[in-house]
Amino acid sequence: MKSQSVILGLMPLLAIARVPTDSVFTSSAAFAQSGARACNQLASVYPNDVFLPPSDTFRAESTAIYSDTCILSPSCVFEPSSAASLGSAIKIIKAARSRFAVRSGGHMPVPGAQSVQSGVMISLSKLNTRSLNADKTIASIGPGQVWADVYTWLARYGLAVNGGRYGTVGVGGLLVGGGISYFSSTKGWGCDTIVGYEVVLADGSVIEARANGRYADLFWALHGGHNNFGIVTRFDTKTFPVTSAYIGGAAWDGSDVSFQAEFISAFESYMAPGGGVDDPNVAISAIIGLTPSSGFKQLTSIQFAPGTDAKPVAFENFTALNAPIIQALPDAVLPWTTLPILLEQLGERGSRQIYSSVSFYPDPRAIRIANETVVELAVPVLSRIANSSIALTYQPVSKDWLKASKASGNNVLDLDPELGTFIAGLVTITWSNAADDAIINILTERIIRTIELRTRALGLYYPFIYLNDASPAQKPFRTYGGGRSLPKLQAIRAKYDPDRFLEYFLGHGFSLE
Ligand SMILES: Cc1cc2nc3c(=O)[nH]c(=O)nc-3n(C[C@H](O)[C@H](O)[C@H](O)COP(=O)(O)OP(=O)(O)OC[C@H]3O[C@@H](n4cnc5c(N)ncnc54)[C@H](O)[C@@H]3O)c2cc1C
Repeated sequence: MKSQSVILGLMPLLAIARVPTDSVFTSSAAFAQSGARACNQLASVYPNDVFLPPSDTFRAESTAIYSDTCILSPSCVFEPSSAASLGSAIKIIKAARSRFAVRSGGHMPVPGAQSVQSGVMISLSKLNTRSLNADKTIASIGPGQVWADVYTWLARYGLAVNGGRYGTVGVGGLLVGGGISYFSSTKGWGCDTIVGYEVVLADGSVIEARANGRYADLFWALHGGHNNFGIVTRFDTKTFPVTSAYIGGAAWDGSDVSFQAEFISAFESYMAPGGGVDDPNVAISAIIGLTPSSGFKQLTSIQFAPGTDAKPVAFENFTALNAPIIQALPDAVLPWTTLPILLEQLGERGSRQIYSSVSFYPDPRAIRIANETVVELAVPVLSRIANSSIALTYQPVSKDWLKASKASGNNVLDLDPELGTFIAGLVTITWSNAADDAIINILTERIIRTIELRTRALGLYYPFIYLNDASPAQKPFRTYGGGRSLPKLQAIRAKYDPDRFLEYFLGHGFSLE
């Protein structure tokens, strides 16, 4: 149970809905009143779908969140069982002028993105439908599911979709934020394979957005525009046949300095022209993890290649690595769903987390700058912070991926394949004490800013902040399409949410400002 002071201590950090200051909502008492009003009205219409504290369901739903920094105290939890009931609820919440938040898998480590302090938390848990069209080329999936559910179901048909790499992540947040998948080098971002959305708009209406027709602009905006346009109640996404995949890699003990150099050099070879990154059939994440208080270093490579090749040449530099193994991945051809399900254990809840995103070209100098900057800046700070650790994940975004993305139509991220392959770097910090939140936020910003400055100085900075990996302080939309996407998104918002209800009352990870 979180103490009141811990919860209040979070308030300055919240990326909560930006309620206009000239409104009646100028005090927490007013927030509490409007939240209670919305909850009472919802409970009178949907008595079986509204949960109040201290019920077990309220507690379970309001804490089903990955990072403890994001666990707040909503006035109630509402679990709609259909798009229509969600639409009616939006009208009630709007009339009550209550703040609200929408949670799918609860994995975005941005406070205020999926829960709310005094307001309605909408849990999408019951919107968990799944179906295939007649020829099984399109899967329709509800946002109340995590990827492990979807993949396990599709595996029965020998199919996959372009979703998340970790089984516990939610369908909803990942797809409205873009989506890095195991199949991205052939399919693009997760959102690129979506052909239709069922969406509840700001006025509570339920519409279908497709590439053509009345809502074509909204269809584009939902391809990476986050929750700024409505709540998606169904994603229609293309399927493709996959049964097995090579799954390999390991987490090695990285305390030996020469092994660290070998690991980095294996990754550099992978990223070099003609290296593994040029094979569109494979995916890799290379992770450098550090626990500064003990000096413990863990080097991890997660390798995936759909098909039956048990020794993909793309990974040969990693296969040759030799150091004590902390945890081995199978190094075998297995049902492809094995990896996302196996990685569920790495997505454990119960600590405080912050993610942040920084991108750079795959030049060995940039790869090293990122690693050295993390070590240089994090060690002095985190060695004094209880239960803290930091990880730098290199996520290659190949030219093939960007081409596949362009070929599938346009998305909000709008990256130019001609700029070539880059690395979407992800810096993750884990800690346990709310009193350390502020210092961790400052450290995160310093690390990202320093990597940016140092890679920029060499012409190696890639101006892209990936929303799904961004920190609360980052502004991903400003980097999309070289800055061209944001004004278009704002114009589309003005059309579908003219009184800016979603902007002001819905909690976002990232708004369009
Ligand atoms: C362990 C872990 C592994 C990850 N792996 C990957 C990965 O492989 N690839 C990748 O791209 N990212 C990955 N991420 C990042 C992840 O995609 C984002 O954090 C994403 O937002 C999580 O989605 P969620 O539904 O679980 O989160 P939530 O916190 O429930 O939602 C995130 C945001 O999306 C909004 N949202 C959710 N559902 C909907 C909906 N139906 N309609 C409108 N808005 C909605 C919410 O309001 C919230 O603001 C990972 C994160 C973690 C913690």
